[in-house]
Amino acid sequence: MTSDPRALWLEALARRAGFPGVQALCDAFGLRPYRLSQLYRAAAKECVRALGDITTLPKDLRNAMESSGVRVSSLEPETIQKSQDGSTRKGLFRLSDGSEVEAVLMEHRGDRTTICISSQAGCAFACAFCSTGQAGFTRSLSAVEIFDQARFFASHVFARGKRVTNVVFMGMGEPFHNYDAVMGAVALLNDPQGFGLGHRHITVSTVGLVDKIDAFAQEGIQVNLAISLHAPNDIVRASIMPVNRRYPVADLLAACERYVQRTHRKVFFEYVMLHGVNDSDASARELAALMRGHLYHVNLIPYNATPDAPFAGSSDERIWAFAKMLDNAGVPVTVRHNMGRDIAAACGQLRAETQPKAQAAVK
Ligand code: SAH
Repeated sequence: MTSDPRALWLEALARRAGFPGVQALCDAFGLRPYRLSQLYRAAAKECVRALGDITTLPKDLRNAMESSGVRVSSLEPETIQKSQDGSTRKGLFRLSDGSEVEAVLMEHRGDRTTICISSQAGCAFACAFCSTGQAGFTRSLSAVEIFDQARFFASHVFARGKRVTNVVFMGMGEPFHNYDAVMGAVALLNDPQGFGLGHRHITVSTVGLVDKIDAFAQEGIQVNLAISLHAPNDIVRASIMPVNRRYPVADLLAACERYVQRTHRKVFFEYVMLHGVNDSDASARELAALMRGHLYHVNLIPYNATPDAPFAGSSDERIWAFAKMLDNAGVPVTVRHNMGRDIAAACGQLRAETQPKAQAAVK
């Protein structure tokens, strides 16, 4: 795979339309290099959704490309739902093979806008409290399919005169189980000639794949790393996260420490508050002991209901008491504000119905 995001994007565009590569696309339409730049700029920077809207290209050219099957986007929006308070939108997108993924736009108070994107259709890690995990794995997305979710919502944000301030890899799937494509998507998001989002405004969240945390530490980029910890010991963690059998807590934290040593960057730990499972005073003390003295930050996540899950969320009082214990122990801690619960767009609630084979057969 090429590490040049522009080349990566153009290559994917050509291949989607059935051309063997960018050169063949250029030959077919007599495209000069500056046309490719116009195309990439319109899509990646201005987040134009359709070829017909790229006004820097002559109309005849747009029409010719359009009728040969050239498409700016690798995915199509199927339904867009809006939360009652208007702050959150969830999009269901269909990929070319019929697989489906969801992505979420959150417009926070003030000027902050966050886009949450999926790296896979489904997920192979089966965390007991997560709807995506319970639904199983369909396939990994390409870098461009991941990027296109951000482009879609960015165009909506631009239309409202705002900017995209953050992109988080916290949608469906495990980003480090699709490492190369996720790094390609990061490059596309970051490209100063294109989307232009600073690395510090991007966060990758992982279930805790130790080998990939080590690889990520070597990338030399300032992208934020979040770890789904959710329990302070192996017994509790293994009971809700099967991945803990492969990478126990001690190994995971050792990798996080190596990451901090190497990058001097803070690690964020996500901790979903499950009533009677991981929310006791004893758990808070155990967690504080693991976190204290490191460049770590704990983010407590109120549990969002998922179908058929045998869990209840901790009460707000319990969450704040837990947070206070960490704070008293000198551990930086925040409580995540949930958005989009009413449209099942909050953490752990994304679960597109995926029937790729049946749908592909229809077309
Ligand atoms: N696979 C990645 C991204 C997952 S989603 C990872 O595991 O980090 C982002 C966060 O939402 C993760 O911390 C995940 O554990 C959390 N989450 C999953 N289900 C949840 C639920 N029902 N309520 C609240 N948070 C949940």
